[in-house]
Amino acid sequence: MPVSKVEPNDASYHAKLLERFLQYVQIETTANADNSTVPSTPGQLELGRILVSQLHSLGIENAHQDAAGVVRAYLPSNQLLESEAATVVFNSHIDTAPDASGRNVQPQVLVYQGGDIELPNGLRITDQQTPELSKLIGKTLITTNGETLLGGDDKAGIAIIMEIARHLATNPNFPRPNVLFLFTCDEEIGRGVASIDVSNLNGTVAYTFDGGGRGVVNHATFSANAAVVEFQGVNIHPAIAKDRMINAIRGAAHFLTQLPAEWSPERTDGDDGFLHPYEISGGVASVRLRLILRDFDTDKLLAQETCLRNAAVRTEQAIAGLKIRVDVQPQYRNMEDGLRREPRAMQLAIRAHELLNITPKLEKIRGGTDGSQLTAQGLPTPNLSSGQHNIHSPLEFACLEEMADAYEIGLQLVRLWSQETRQVRH
Ligand SMILES: [Zn+2]
Repeated sequence: MPVSKVEPNDASYHAKLLERFLQYVQIETTANADNSTVPSTPGQLELGRILVSQLHSLGIENAHQDAAGVVRAYLPSNQLLESEAATVVFNSHIDTAPDASGRNVQPQVLVYQGGDIELPNGLRITDQQTPELSKLIGKTLITTNGETLLGGDDKAGIAIIMEIARHLATNPNFPRPNVLFLFTCDEEIGRGVASIDVSNLNGTVAYTFDGGGRGVVNHATFSANAAVVEFQGVNIHPAIAKDRMINAIRGAAHFLTQLPAEWSPERTDGDDGFLHPYEISGGVASVRLRLILRDFDTDKLLAQETCLRNAAVRTEQAIAGLKIRVDVQPQYRNMEDGLRREPRAMQLAIRAHELLNITPKLEKIRGGTDGSQLTAQGLPTPNLSSGQHNIHSPLEFACLEEMADAYEIGLQLVRLWSQETRQVRH
């Protein structure tokens, strides 16, 4: 299979990708779950405005930012009538994770020579803790100065998609279906698609560029429910409590011992799900316990819920008078279920990798993505690499060559979906 790079003689997009990336990471866009504003922080609006202005200067006049900070830009097909062509959505998120500061990010660009990377503040990215470094010798890496996260998650995705937009806008003969560029806010605090009416996107397929190392394709995520368990006891002065006090704290403790320890995140990995109590608050009179339920097999969430309800019944039997209420709410669903309805979403993603001699690495995410929510709402959305590493940490770095590969993969997807639509329609 020959390597069919889209721009065989033009390495200049490496420089353009890097320039964009360095510009974007220096704008503080940390999401804040404590804010109820939409988006949660004003920096996200600022970066969005820059993206709109850059898209306008590429000649994509319909680029705009809505009141929620979401940026959209659209190129109709140059092969078919708009109504006959597939619509491919490319998505990444503007915000960065609140786990580490995103203020005054000072990116450092280096060509990796092997061994540990010492950051300017003395922190070290060790090859022991970051085994993928051994495959990145000779590559251009972008790190922080050790004081902040980098924001490669997911400004690498933004830079990749903006370069795809540049290529398509400046090469009007490059065959394309309808292409929608979509930049969302507050993904890191679970609100990425909250303000989006997915059916209005009219998408056939979407790809998020929000994954790890070279060739990674995420085709499956957990399915997820959240549970709140409330224990209602009776408080009274302990001096006169005999046969009268009902201690909700003892109730919660008894309840927790009923949950199988082997279902905990501390004891599971790979394909196994878990049932995870993560927050507890209250006193003798009442206790509130929060849990998350996770499994790749959506049906197994029901077994986890049954386990909670049985534990509640047994605890009420053990502690007379204690009342327990179990409330379980759905959060997101494994994208694999939705991707089966549009097999071309994955088939063409794999084909795009093969055309570039990149071995696709199909990986499941032990968590959720915006793609799981988009897929659940009818828009099949696998996740592709954007060259991000050690995310949500001052040890974060991004790899320029992996970003360039992702850009090439994006353009191959554009071409493949353009051909695919023609084959289907004629
Ligand atoms: Zn991300």
